Order: sequence, then structure tokens, then C-alpha cells
Amino acid sequence: MQSTTNLPSLALQLGATRAAIVEVSEIQFSDTFRQLCELNSCGKYNASWMCPPAIGPCDELRNKVLEFDQGLVVQTVYYLEDSFDFEGMMTAAAIHEKVFRDILNRVRDEHLLDPFLALNAGVCKFCENCSYPDRECLYPDEALSSVEAHGIDVTALVTACGIPYNNGPASVSYVGMILFKSTGL
Ligand code: SF4
Repeated sequence: MQSTTNLPSLALQLGATRAAIVEVSEIQFSDTFRQLCELNSCGKYNASWMCPPAIGPCDELRNKVLEFDQGLVVQTVYYLEDSFDFEGMMTAAAIHEKVFRDILNRVRDEHLLDPFLALNAGVCKFCENCSYPDRECLYPDEALSSVEAHGIDVTALVTACGIPYNNGPASVSYVGMILFKSTGL
């Protein structure tokens, strides 16, 4: 275990643009984010074990979040050629995935936080093609759900940490969080 004050520095070393600790008591929940999932706004509704509806009801997920005391919030920001730069968006998403996984692997391999709950941005991307719904999750230890599926207000989350949500025109920002219990750290 290590002091929580070192966690944002670790995240920055591993490629995060910004990182901070949030108190779980400051996290705001909003049905809007979950409703966006259910409206299939990202095109992944009912397409992954880690997304609604398979991930479970919003109330249950909220209670899981509330079992923890603090979270390491990780934001990555990328600047696109313009707002139609689809290739840049795909590259940005892939880079965020690597950065968040690198942080998570470090946390897990070095037992820096235990227990923890990692929530990434958007659908689980561990497998090229999710086994849902035909077979069980292929890599349950690697599968990641999202802050959005857990009904967390992402704008309020980053604001609570002093992190800007909007990083300017033609930018794309991703937010993930690793929740943990501060007791004993
Ligand atoms: S680890 Fe693979 S099978 Fe499991 S939820 Fe993620 S993409 Fe789907």
C-alpha cells in the first residue's frame, strides 16, 4: 500500500494528462448518463458484458461505488486536426485505453490499492469482439465497466477534482477512475 497522495503522480508518469483524488462523498450520480446508455447513444447498448443491461441495475452499481471512500480520477486529453478527425478520435481512444490499463496494471501488480473498482470510459475494449451474449466474459479479471454505466455524472466528477471537463475546440477527453478504500493506506 502507498499514500494516496502519490497516486496522481504515478498516473501522470504513466501518461495521464491530469489526475486527482476525489472523495466518494463528492461523487454525484445522475440518471441522465445511464439513460444515454439505454438510448444507445454510443452504439454499444446490449453489446458487452460490462455495459447495460448486462452490467446490472443502476441502483446496484451505485451502491458498489459507495462501498469505497476515494477514487483516483484519470483524464487524458487529445487534440484533433478538426472536429471531423475520426482517425484522430480512434487514436485518442486507443491511447487512453493504454494509459488507463498501464495505471491499472501498476496498481494491481504492486498491490497499491486493494480492494479497488476500476471504471473506464465507454465500453470494455479488452477483446476485439466481446463474447456477449453467446459466451461468458472471456477475461473477467480484465473486463472494465464505465463511469457512465454506473450513473456517475462525469462533468461533476472532474469539476470536484479541479479538472476541466471541456478542453477546447477539436479536443477529445476521456475520464476513468479507480475507486479504493482509504482505510489502512
Ligand atoms: S473482457 Fe472481453 S468478453 Fe469480457 S466484457 Fe470485455 S470485451 Fe467482453
